[in-house]
Amino acid sequence: MLKDLQLFNELVEVLISEEQNNPVATPINTTELFDTLNLQLNDDPIVDKDFKKTVTDIIKSTPKTASTSFFNQLFGGRISRATLGDLLAVMLNNSMYTYKVAGPQVGIEKVILHKICEMINYPKSADGTFAPGGSMSNYMAVLMARDKYNPAARNKGISNTMTLYTSEESHYSITKNASFIGVGRDQVRTIKTNDRGEMLAEDLDTQISKDIENGLQPFFVNATAGTTVLGAFDDVEKISIICRKHDVWLHLDGAYCGAVIFSTQYKSLVKGIEHSDSFSVNAHKMLGTPLSCSIIVTKNKNNLYQSFSNEAEYLYQTNDDDFNLGKTSLQCGRRNDALKLWTLWKSVGNIGLESIVNHQFKLAALARKYINNHADYTLYSFENSISVCFNYKTISAKTLCTSLYEDSKLMVGFGKFRNQDFVRMVTINTLLQEADILNFFKTIESFTSSTDLLTHNR
Ligand SMILES: *Cc1c(COP(=O)(O)O)cnc(C)c1O
Repeated sequence: MLKDLQLFNELVEVLISEEQNNPVATPINTTELFDTLNLQLNDDPIVDKDFKKTVTDIIKSTPKTASTSFFNQLFGGRISRATLGDLLAVMLNNSMYTYKVAGPQVGIEKVILHKICEMINYPKSADGTFAPGGSMSNYMAVLMARDKYNPAARNKGISNTMTLYTSEESHYSITKNASFIGVGRDQVRTIKTNDRGEMLAEDLDTQISKDIENGLQPFFVNATAGTTVLGAFDDVEKISIICRKHDVWLHLDGAYCGAVIFSTQYKSLVKGIEHSDSFSVNAHKMLGTPLSCSIIVTKNKNNLYQSFSNEAEYLYQTNDDDFNLGKTSLQCGRRNDALKLWTLWKSVGNIGLESIVNHQFKLAALARKYINNHADYTLYSFENSISVCFNYKTISAKTLCTSLYEDSKLMVGFGKFRNQDFVRMVTINTLLQEADILNFFKTIESFTSSTDLLTHNR
């Protein structure tokens, strides 16, 4: 192992140097991928020297998500204390289902979950778990709601029509999950949003009332803290009143921006969160841990047991169920995703997490200001969002983003709200400083002036 750890260090040095010198890896066309890199598996082993060369080549060609040119996705950067925790989790290789095989790692997971429940003012009965991503956290939430409002579903399946509600700007996992839980994609009601992309509570109320009148069973509302494109926050307080009125489950999908709960300045964006029945947040997005680190908490832990526990004598041989996390989890064998968040949190404290969150809003404000001060840009996003959506001159967003990528200048994506396409740059990358934001715009400006994008457009 020690020899491979040394090799690991050498490879990581290659990676870090690439991140600095070639921050956007030269993309390989899919038709050339298998001819360019030695990915094939053969009967005979590869010799050590060739192994190192092959892995080095792969590292060099892999997109660099921890470079200051990466603005493409809702994650990015690297915080070394969090990465250290994840590396340790790999070395320790526990499975989180029982106290017997995970020991103190169970305590680490529970400390995080309880702290988050406390921060959002959930009662003592609350608890949670780590899921393999935000989509799966949303899945766990909607499954708990199904089993609460239709207790027969777990054993007998569903025989009536259950309906669920989410805004047109919400994450696509809500629709997928409706199919997974046997309710069906057609039973998802898409609620309209205002011109900032926030769910219209009045429309929600109308839709639920209509479904009740038609003899259907509304059971679940998904609100979003940070919609995937615009980064909008639904009004949890207002939506929770409608949910209470009709007695339906309220889930708050905070995969993208739920981490605002760590910020005194920004937690008002999820005002009313204590009225939700469940809440999820991805630490691998705003908090900058390695992928994946997704947390789901719910107000009453009985709902977790009701939907996810199974007796398994071969597995649960010791200790009380509170420490056998397999009884409240989606998986059987489960990776330790808690340790990386714990090593980070322990190292920087609540105040450190708060400044990670605040910094992203500050950079986004700087980017919006730059756009507003430069007439060649059009801005589409709003205050209190870390998604900065814009267009440059008359260049289509898709053309601009694709050309920047193909020329190894920047990785940035595009999105759409209503019928408007735009570039969506995100200030979530934990490495970014103010200079990187200005550099982002300068790169676009010098790149477009040196190409014929403007003349060959639209
Ligand atoms: C990213 C995101 C998800 C999905 O999270 P994964 O970890 O990618 O599965 C769900 N909801 C919202 C709002 C998101 O931004």
